[in-house]
Amino acid sequence: MDFKFTQEQDKFRQEVREFLGEELRQGKWQPSCDAWIQGYSPEFTKKVARKGWIGLTWPREYGGQGRSHIDRLIYTEEMLRYGAPAACHWFADRQIGGAILRYGTEEQKKEILPRIIRGEAYVGLGMSEPEAGSDLASVKTRAAETDDSYVLDGQKMWTSCGMFMNYLYLVARTDPEAPKHRGLSEFIIETDLPGITITPTIDITGSTAWAEVFFDGVRVPRKSLIGEKNRGFYQIVNQLDFERAGLERLMGNYPLFDAIIRYARETDWNGLPLCKDTLVRHKLAQLQVEFEVGWLLTYRVASVMDDGRAPNVEAAMAKAYSTSFEQHLASAAMDILGLYGQLVATSKWTPMLGMAPHSYFGSKGYSLQAGTSEILRNILATRGLGLPAAG
Ligand SMILES: Cc1cc2nc3c(=O)[nH]c(=O)nc-3n(C[C@H](O)[C@H](O)[C@H](O)COP(=O)(O)OP(=O)(O)OC[C@H]3O[C@@H](n4cnc5c(N)ncnc54)[C@H](O)[C@@H]3O)c2cc1C
Repeated sequence: MDFKFTQEQDKFRQEVREFLGEELRQGKWQPSCDAWIQGYSPEFTKKVARKGWIGLTWPREYGGQGRSHIDRLIYTEEMLRYGAPAACHWFADRQIGGAILRYGTEEQKKEILPRIIRGEAYVGLGMSEPEAGSDLASVKTRAAETDDSYVLDGQKMWTSCGMFMNYLYLVARTDPEAPKHRGLSEFIIETDLPGITITPTIDITGSTAWAEVFFDGVRVPRKSLIGEKNRGFYQIVNQLDFERAGLERLMGNYPLFDAIIRYARETDWNGLPLCKDTLVRHKLAQLQVEFEVGWLLTYRVASVMDDGRAPNVEAAMAKAYSTSFEQHLASAAMDILGLYGQLVATSKWTPMLGMAPHSYFGSKGYSLQAGTSEILRNILATRGLGLPAAG
C-alpha cells in the first residue's frame, strides 16, 4: 500500500507541530504520559479552540471545519507526540460532539457544539457503574420522567476527568419495566446541578483523574435527553466505536517512547552507551515495529470514518492492539531502566520524570477502559470473523 498524505495535510501537521513546539519552548507544560486524559488546562484548550482545531470534522454550520477524519488524526497524533495537556476538550471533541450531531436536536446542536468548539464545554462520560461495566445494559441509575423534567438517582464510577468536567454525558434507566437493553436513555447535563456530588478516585499512580459521580434527586430539564427515549443503549454502542477509534490508545505514552530512545542513546552502562547493548536495541526495534503496525491500524479506522461508516471491527482491532503496545512499551522501559525504573517522580534520581513507572502502572487501566481487550476480541471473533457468540 502506498500511503501518502496530501500536501495540505503535511502542511497542517507542520502547523500543529510549530504551535506545540512553541508552547513547549515557552515551558507551558512538560511532556507527560496520559496528558490527553490527565492534563487539565482550560488555558491550553482555549488556545487550541482559537486555532479552530476542536470540532475539525463537524459541519461548518455548527462552527466546525468540515474536514476529514484523517486530518483530525494528524492533529491528535501531534497532540499526543508532544504530550500536550488536552484533557479538557478530548472527549467532547472525540465522541460527544459526534453523538450530538447524530442524535441531538437542532437546539442541542446550536447550543452545545459551539461551546465545545470555543473550548468552554468540558464533557465527561458517565457510563460505568459499580455493577455495569462490560455489561453496560445493567445500568441502574434511574431517570424518572415528570411533567417538566427527569429526576436522576444513582451513581457513576470511573468518570474520566470527573473532577473538572462541567458537563456529563450519561446513560440512565428511563423504563425499569422494559428488557434491560431497551429501557435506557442518554442525557447531557451540567455538573453543577443541585444533588450532584463528585468525589475523586485515586488510582495506583496517585492520579485523581477519575471520579465517582452521585445523583440524589437531580432534576434535569427534558431538553437534556439526547436522541430517542429508551434507545440509549443502541446509541451508545455506536458511540463506543468512536471512543475506541483514536490514536491515544497507541500514543498516550509516546513521550515515554521518545524519552527511552534518547535515554538509551545518552546513557552509559559499564562504559558503553546503552544503545549498543543488543537486548536494549532489540527491545526498542521491536517496539518500533509494533508502533508502526498500530499506527496503520488507527489510520485505517480514520479512513473508514471518512467513508461514512462507523468503525466497529476496525476500531476494536486498533484499540486491542494499541493498548497492548502501550503495556509492552512500559515493560520495556522498566527493563531498560533497571532498578532506576522503580523510582517515582519525587526522587532526584528518577530518570525521565518518572514516566516509566507511571506508564507501567497506568497502562493496565487502558486495556479495560472503553471496552476491555476480552470484549474487543469477542467483537473481532463475532463481527470480524463471523464466529458464533460464545455460549
Ligand atoms: C482508566 C479507566 C478510565 C475509565 N474511564 C471511564 C469513563 O470516563 N467513563 C465511564 O463510564 N467508564 C470509564 N471506565 C470504566 C470502564 O469502561 C470499565 O472498567 C470497563 O467497561 C470494564 O468494566 P468493569 O471494570 O466493570 O469490569 P467487568 O465488566 O466486571 O470485567 C471484569 C473482567 O471480566 C471480563 N469480561 C467481562 N465480560 C466478559 C465477556 N462477555 N467475555 C469475556 N470477558 C469478559 C473483562 O474483560 C474483565 O477482564 C474507565 C476505566 C478505567 C480503568
